Amino acid sequence: MNIIVLVKQVPNTTKVKLDPRTGNLIREGLESIVNPDDLHAIEAGVRIKEEMGGKVIAVSMGPPQAVDALTQAMGMGADRGILLCDTAFAGADTWATSLTLSRAIEKIGDYDLIFCGHQAIDGDTAQIGPQVADWLGIAQATYVKEIEEIRPGEPGEPGESAKPGEIIVKRRLENGVERLACQLPALLTVIKEVNKPRYANMERLITSCTDRAPISVWNAADIGVNTCEVGLEGSNTHVIKTFTPNFKRQNEILEGNKEVVVKKLFSRLKKSDTTIAGRF
Ligand SMILES: Cc1cc2nc3c(=O)[nH]c(=O)nc-3n(C[C@H](O)[C@H](O)[C@H](O)COP(=O)(O)OP(=O)(O)OC[C@H]3O[C@@H](n4cnc5c(N)ncnc54)[C@H](O)[C@@H]3O)c2cc1C
Repeated sequence: MNIIVLVKQVPNTTKVKLDPRTGNLIREGLESIVNPDDLHAIEAGVRIKEEMGGKVIAVSMGPPQAVDALTQAMGMGADRGILLCDTAFAGADTWATSLTLSRAIEKIGDYDLIFCGHQAIDGDTAQIGPQVADWLGIAQATYVKEIEEIRPGEPGEPGESAKPGEIIVKRRLENGVERLACQLPALLTVIKEVNKPRYANMERLITSCTDRAPISVWNAADIGVNTCEVGLEGSNTHVIKTFTPNFKRQNEILEGNKEVVVKKLFSRLKKSDTTIAGRF
């Protein structure tokens, strides 16, 4: 099984703070980590490799420091890392990000499974996995909570191509679970329920830190994309404004005895009810 895991480096916070003037994310003082769902994606890939053989390649699109995310993936058992790094990739929306990742995957070739996290804690769109599957024209399953069985493809008769294998997964739905068979190659986006990620192995971490050879850096030319197809230029969506909503609570203390307070409260509630109803 040849497995590709998509790994994103994100700021270590679930509470993204925005500069009210520029609308940009305030990154100062924020440590970078591997996106939490992606740790589960790496673990899923490494477990399959350990059971069935093959290799795991971790791929990340990001600035030079995203190499740390790949180093961690290798500490957990990935065999190789590929960093997609080019100024032309900066400012990408999900369309341009997924195009860049899928072109790199096409260059890697020979893969059976692609694992992604369900969503990134900063961008939060959960669009990258499905979009990458779409660019590649392969099967996809999102919200995967369990990998039940993998039936690898069978070699074909001479002159015939190999018969594709199948993976059976369980997906978390709002009101239940769906059991799904996907033809390989397939892309799965995983949620936290799927497994418990291991800690990175110290020896493997040291090796990948000192010997950077297993981490390659590819730019736009390496993956054969035109710079106008990727990054800000290749993005179909442009953020006009980003802001934190300003909630203002108005407290009011109702004075009087129990009966008076209850009467006042009901009259206030009735009033606010008509105000809300009046809006629709
Ligand atoms: C106009 C515009 C400009 C933007 N500019 C920037 C910018 O300058 N810098 C910036 O960081 N973001 C920028 N973004 C946000 C960027 O588009 C998203 O972060 C990115 O497309 C991924 O989407 P997401 O974070 O919602 O990922 P999700 O779809 O929520 O992620 C799901 C999974 O996809 C995989 N994945 C996602 N992103 C990557 C990646 N980069 N590498 C490998 N795997 C990945 C991971 O497995 C992840 O768990 C911009 C967005 C817009 C619309």
